[in-house]
Amino acid sequence: MNQKPPARIIILGGGTAGWMAANLLANAWGAFGTKVTLVESPDVGIIGVGEGSTPQLRGFFRSLGLDEAEWMPQCNATYKNGITFKGWSERSGFESYYHPFNTEVDARTLDSFTYNTRARRTGRDVWAHPDRFFLPAVLSAKRLAPIAAGNFPFDVSYGYHFDAHLVGSVLRDHAKSLGVEHLERHIAKVEVSETDEVAALLTKEGERIEGDFFIDCSGFRGSIIQEALGEKFISFADNLFNDSAVVMPTPTDPTGINPHTSATALSSGWAWDIPLTNRTGNGYVYASGYIDKDAAETELRTHLGLRDSDVAARHLSMKVGRVERSWVGNCLAVGLSQGFIEPLEATALHIVQATVEGFISQFEAGERDQFNAKIAARYEGIRDYIVCHYRVNRRTDTQYWRDNAANQNLSDTLKIMMTSWFRGEDLGATIADLDIAKYYSSLSWHCLLAGYGTFPNDTQITPPGDDIVPVDMGQIDDFLARCALNFGDHKALLQTR
Ligand SMILES: Cc1cc2nc3c(=O)[nH]c(=O)nc-3n(C[C@H](O)[C@H](O)[C@H](O)COP(=O)(O)OP(=O)(O)OC[C@H]3O[C@@H](n4cnc5c(N)ncnc54)[C@H](O)[C@@H]3O)c2cc1C
Repeated sequence: MNQKPPARIIILGGGTAGWMAANLLANAWGAFGTKVTLVESPDVGIIGVGEGSTPQLRGFFRSLGLDEAEWMPQCNATYKNGITFKGWSERSGFESYYHPFNTEVDARTLDSFTYNTRARRTGRDVWAHPDRFFLPAVLSAKRLAPIAAGNFPFDVSYGYHFDAHLVGSVLRDHAKSLGVEHLERHIAKVEVSETDEVAALLTKEGERIEGDFFIDCSGFRGSIIQEALGEKFISFADNLFNDSAVVMPTPTDPTGINPHTSATALSSGWAWDIPLTNRTGNGYVYASGYIDKDAAETELRTHLGLRDSDVAARHLSMKVGRVERSWVGNCLAVGLSQGFIEPLEATALHIVQATVEGFISQFEAGERDQFNAKIAARYEGIRDYIVCHYRVNRRTDTQYWRDNAANQNLSDTLKIMMTSWFRGEDLGATIADLDIAKYYSSLSWHCLLAGYGTFPNDTQITPPGDDIVPVDMGQIDDFLARCALNFGDHKALLQTR
């Protein structure tokens, strides 16, 4: 270790980001004598959405020694094998597709899938819809949990759905057990020294909270990083149009619990459906430039069959983009204060985890610039993948979808990716050249582009000749069906917990 951990760390904010940071920091540096204090306002609530994760969160809970059988029931949590995209394409046969979490067993079928998508891109009539190629899609179609029988020889990757408030409580209790101090105070001012370091947080009662290092988890305002230190915010509004959301729950489906999130395209955005054990979380993420708040709420109610229901709706604004540098002086921004890419692939908590874990290792190595560059690249890498969903959408029914499809504000990386795909080049090799698989894998990119039916028109494709080695789809169907026999019903498994 080149640099000793800070003696006193102050975290501003007790949302999911604040409590995740508190746990990771206390876990890593508590043994070195670092004292962590988390300050949260009794007057400002947490955002409280953020109910879906990526598979990385499994590593987070494991690193804290929190067992699924312990934390999941406390948070009404369910398993997530991936995401179903519905209605993003009008092309026949491609009205929906499944984005699986990349699992070890999928390496067996990935080559066949990428081979067929390339053949289809170059005009051959072969099967190229992703859903028949990957185990998570098969598990989800049968509502099976991603927990395999003990003798299943492959590791299976999965994420979670959970109640964000309840996860906050579990993480708060765990952080306190690691020695984290919890203060309920409203911070009225951030004191910045002449050398542009944060000196202290001042409560509205005039109390001064001093520290050596400050973690800004204050939400979209970014009270330390943006307001006090004036770090530049880089908006992504030019290529991600959604800036608002309306949220409301529905009762759980009595017939079973889906082990996946659904993302259904609506007129001016998309609606999520996140199944928990006690309710389903729903929200419509939309662009206020295309639909107003009331119309968005009505559209969501209609979509959910709640037109005559008095269930309350919550309206939220989203600030989409990132701060230029996440680590400035003696402050690290984590969570919404640091940036936000809209929730389509539920990546926010994944970035929180990557930020704090990366910070811990790079603080010790004294590599601030390298850390900031890595985090910025991660945001851009994830953003490109999300932007691609909108750019290649195949809906024509509203101006919103037509404008997204015509959007020319694409990064150079995304332009190279799309050119590679449309020219029939080897997309896997392009991804490797661009070194972007660490944000989204080749499997994910192929699923996205193939899933929307981004192929030549039906009139332009011909039956394959001898130049194609046929993929035996029956064999893949059989292999995945046999794999699925090792998994049990999702709802039944959760009820045993
Ligand atoms: C519509 C929507 C859907 C989302 N879906 C997902 C998803 O599916 N998956 C995912 O990973 N993420 C999702 N997110 C993001 C996720 O909600 C956040 O990343 C996560 O909740 C972390 O938020 P936070 O802790 O940074 O901020 P917040 O939850 O806003 O917490 C801010 C904290 O700062 C405190 N605070 C603020 N000002 C002061 C002050 N002056 N003094 C003291 N304390 C103060 C507040 O009291 C609060 O405790 C979604 C976000 C939105 C908007």
